Amino acid sequence: MLIEKRKYVQDNVDRLKDILQSMESELSETDRYSFHIADEGSDSMDREQSFMLLSRALKYLNQIDAALRSIEAGTYGICKVCGTELSLDRLEAVPTTTICVKCKNMKPKADPDE
Ligand SMILES: [Zn+2]
Repeated sequence: MLIEKRKYVQDNVDRLKDILQSMESELSETDRYSFHIADEGSDSMDREQSFMLLSRALKYLNQIDAALRSIEAGTYGICKVCGTELSLDRLEAVPTTTICVKCKNMKPKADPDE
């Protein structure tokens, strides 16, 4: 079981790094876009939208970063609330998750991304 988990975590590290890389290129594109429309002085709606996109992407980057750190620390796949091992199904669905379904459902203001 542990060996299986270890292998799964390793796969996830690779996957998260891929996501991280595509996120980074997406981010720089968004940056260029924001810069472009700022130059043209177009309406604030567009700027607001790209800012929302950017902050969303940054938030996701932070989650991936935290997941990678927890993998390094050996705490990846463990619920930060109750300490239970997360199911592989859940990690498969949300690789950046840090809490189990039970604790997530108990939190009134759960992150909609999780
Ligand atoms: Zn939990």
